[in-house]
Amino acid sequence: MPRDFLQGAKDEYDVIVIGSGLAGLTAANILGRAGHSVLLLEQHYKLGGMATWFKRPGGHIFDVSLHGFPAGMIKSCRRYWTREIAESIVQLKNIRFDNPMFSLTTTYNREDFTQLLTERFGVPAENVKAFFDTARGMNFYDDQKTTTRELFDRFFPGREDVIRLLMEPITYANGSTLEDPAITYGIVFSNFMAKGVFTFEGGTDRLIQLMQEDLVSSGVDVRIRCDAEKILIRRGKVQGVEVNGRTIRARAVVSNANLMLTIFRLAGEEQFDRSFVDQAHEVRLNNSSTQVYMAMKPEEQIDESTGDLLFSSTAPVFRTDLLLSRDVTSRTFSFYYPRTRPQGRPRSLVVSSTNARYEDWAELSDEEYEASKRDLVETTLDAAEKYIPNFRERLAHAEAATPRTFKHYTQHAQGASFGTKFEGLGVSRALPEQVKGLYHAGSVGIIMSGWLGAINYGVIVANDVDAHLMKAPAPAVSAPEA
Ligand SMILES: Cc1cc2nc3c(=O)[nH]c(=O)nc-3n(C[C@H](O)[C@H](O)[C@H](O)COP(=O)(O)OP(=O)(O)OC[C@H]3O[C@@H](n4cnc5c(N)ncnc54)[C@H](O)[C@@H]3O)c2cc1C
Repeated sequence: MPRDFLQGAKDEYDVIVIGSGLAGLTAANILGRAGHSVLLLEQHYKLGGMATWFKRPGGHIFDVSLHGFPAGMIKSCRRYWTREIAESIVQLKNIRFDNPMFSLTTTYNREDFTQLLTERFGVPAENVKAFFDTARGMNFYDDQKTTTRELFDRFFPGREDVIRLLMEPITYANGSTLEDPAITYGIVFSNFMAKGVFTFEGGTDRLIQLMQEDLVSSGVDVRIRCDAEKILIRRGKVQGVEVNGRTIRARAVVSNANLMLTIFRLAGEEQFDRSFVDQAHEVRLNNSSTQVYMAMKPEEQIDESTGDLLFSSTAPVFRTDLLLSRDVTSRTFSFYYPRTRPQGRPRSLVVSSTNARYEDWAELSDEEYEASKRDLVETTLDAAEKYIPNFRERLAHAEAATPRTFKHYTQHAQGASFGTKFEGLGVSRALPEQVKGLYHAGSVGIIMSGWLGAINYGVIVANDVDAHLMKAPAPAVSAPEA
C-alpha cells in the first residue's frame, strides 16, 4: 500500500500553506508562532523549493541557489527565524568581474564601488553620489515608467562599461533587464550595496534543517510529498484544499506555488473577475536558468584568490539577449571552499549559472536534450579552465541542470527562476480582494524574489493572513481529528 503522507493530519486548520519555498516556510512559521494552526504542504520530498541542494557520491553537496544575498537576510532571519540561523550568515568578500571591458575584484559595497567608479572608471564623484542616492531612495510604489536603461543614461551617458559593472550581477541575481522598471534595479542594487554579498555557512541543507526544526517548535504541521490539487472556494471564500485524495478545510490558504499555477490551476479562473483574469494573463514569467555543478577530487583545493563569485563573460558588450542565448557567453561561477561547510568533509566545488529561456530547452527530443546538456558541461569546463588550472584533470564530477530541471522539481511554469516579472506583484497582492482568505506569497518580480525577497514577502503575507484570521470568526464546532 502506498504510504500516507497525510497520516495523522487534522481535517481542519486555520491556514494551509501550499509550498515550502522560503516565502511559504516563513509565512508558515510566523503564523504558527502567532498561535494559528498551520498545515504546510510540499509536493517534493524535501523542503526549500529553489533553495535546495543535492548530494553526490564522494561527499559532494551542491547548493542550487546559494550564491549570494544582501545583508538584510541577517535581520529577517533573526526576527522571523532563529539566532542560530542569523549568526550563520557570513560575507563573501571576493567578488570578481572578468569580461572584455574590465577585470577587477571588489567587496561589492557602496564604499568600494564609489572608489572603483571614480578612480578606475573616471566618473565624476558627484554623479556617483547622485546615482547611489537616487537608487537608495527608490520604493516599490514609485513611478514605474522609468526603465533601468534610462536611469543609467541619466547618470552615466554612453558608459557601456559602467552599465555592465552596475547591471551584470543584478541580472544574474534576479533576471532583471535594462528594459525593466528602474525601481526594480535600484531597490535590489541598494540592498546589496548597503553591506555587500552574503552567504549561509553550512550550506542550504543546514539552513533548511534549522528552519524545519523551528517550524516544528512553532507548531506547524509539516508534510512532504503532498501535492495540492485544488484550492476549494465557495461563494468567493476559501474553504480548504484537496490534497492526496483528502479534503482539508481551512479559513485561509497561502499559495507559495507559482502565481500563474495558483490562479489558473489550483483556484481556477472561474473564481475571479474577468478584469482580474485579463490582468493575470498579462503577467510575464521570469526567465529560467541553466547550471553546471562541478566537484573537485577530494585532495584537490581551489586557491581562494579565485574569488567567491565570479561574473565572467566573453561577450564584447552587455546585452540581455546575449545573456539568455543558448550560445552561452556569460557565466557566474560560485566557488565553494571547505570553509563554506565547516561541518562537512573538506570539498571544493564550483557551480556555474547562466540565465536561460525555457523554450530553448522545452521541445528538445531526449537525445537532443542529453547532447545539449553534455555540450553545456563541456563548454563550461573549457570556460572554467581559465580560472582553475588543469581543472579537468582535477575534477571528480560534473553535471548540468536546465530550465526543465527547475520546472520538474518546483512545478514553476517554464522553470522560472524568479517567478514572474514585476507586474505579478499587483496580481499577487489583489488575490484576497477576489477570494476571501486566498493569498499568494512567493517569487513575483524582482523585489519579492531571491532569498531575501521571498522571505520578506512571506512576512508581509503572514501579517495579512493573521489580520484576516483575527477578523474571521472560527467555526463554532471544528471537525474531529482524523
Ligand atoms: C539557479 C538559481 C539560482 C538562484 N540564485 C539565487 C541567489 O544566488 N540568491 C538569491 O537570493 N536567490 C537566488 N535564486 C532565487 C531564489 O532561490 C528564489 O527566488 C527563492 O528561493 C524562491 O522562493 P519562493 O518562496 O518563491 O518559492 P520556490 O522556491 O519557488 O518554491 C515553491 C515551492 O512550492 C512547491 N509547490 C508548487 N506547487 C505545489 C503544489 N501544488 N503542492 C505543494 N507544493 C507545491 C514547490 O515544490 C516548491 O517547493 C536562484 C534561483 C535559481 C533557480
